[in-house]
Amino acid sequence: MENYYLGIDLGGTTTKFGLVTTEGRLKKEWWIPTDCRQNGTRIIPDCLASIQKELASELKQKRILGIGMGCPGAVDRVHGTVSNAFNLGWTHAQPIRAAFEQSLCLPFFLENDANAAALGEKWQGSGDGEKDVVFLTLGTGVGGGVILNDQLVTGVGGAGGEIGHFPVTNPHSFDCSCGNSSCLETLVSATGIVKLAESYRLTTATTLNHCPKLTNAIIFAEAEKGDLLALKVVNEAANYLGQACSMIANLLNPHSIIIGGGVAEAKDFLMDRVRARFEQGNFPAVRKTTKLKRASLGKDAGIFGAAYLVKIRNTAG
Ligand SMILES: [Zn+2]
Repeated sequence: MENYYLGIDLGGTTTKFGLVTTEGRLKKEWWIPTDCRQNGTRIIPDCLASIQKELASELKQKRILGIGMGCPGAVDRVHGTVSNAFNLGWTHAQPIRAAFEQSLCLPFFLENDANAAALGEKWQGSGDGEKDVVFLTLGTGVGGGVILNDQLVTGVGGAGGEIGHFPVTNPHSFDCSCGNSSCLETLVSATGIVKLAESYRLTTATTLNHCPKLTNAIIFAEAEKGDLLALKVVNEAANYLGQACSMIANLLNPHSIIIGGGVAEAKDFLMDRVRARFEQGNFPAVRKTTKLKRASLGKDAGIFGAAYLVKIRNTAG
């Protein structure tokens, strides 16, 4: 009987489940909608019911060594709880590990969603299994995960790797969800890039000015066509991102810095610009050794990383 890990990626819209072999092959994947109504009280019971249904049918003959979950919010790894996951409707700390262990009698490991995606990319994605990998995900916000010597850097307060809240010198001073202003997230997330474009819209006359509602996709498409305003915005965002990446590289000299998330799907158009700024800011020895890469697992990074949590944290094997 082959051994498996069960990885769960809990998101604000869908919750994805993946059965992963101990060597990192995804054997089965399924998902359920995340029901955030009634303060998210259905979320964990729905997850448990879905797993129990699979365990009673398709997974009946599989040996599952443990369950890992990546979840938005602030994770307390000692108590297995998550708090501040406001987009799930959770206003108080949720005892997630206790609920899973009581219901399924399997070891359970919880991690922040960006950290889980970082572990996934390190294990089976662009990180090539290397020991030192940094991951950034550019979506509605900017998440980050730092892995050094095969260990996640979680920090003394559990907030290690919050690269999205790097302070960046810029003329805009957009407010950040964390309460500060001028965080990297306010400039290079999907919403940040739209804000950058909006801030220039009134002063520059180009095609972008005629769009009633700006989106990231429109800004990147117009930039590729040569629209001057769109290009200015993409170049500026790439400059902030490249600068942040070179600071990370000069501090840690990791094997790779991996960029994922919806914004990074602009492919080489964005990455070429980020790379140029990145290389310009790097210490020579760092320039030769730290690679800047695009993520390769897409939306499955969280599932792989959650499964990998079982591999690295389950001392029972
Ligand atoms: Zn912030």
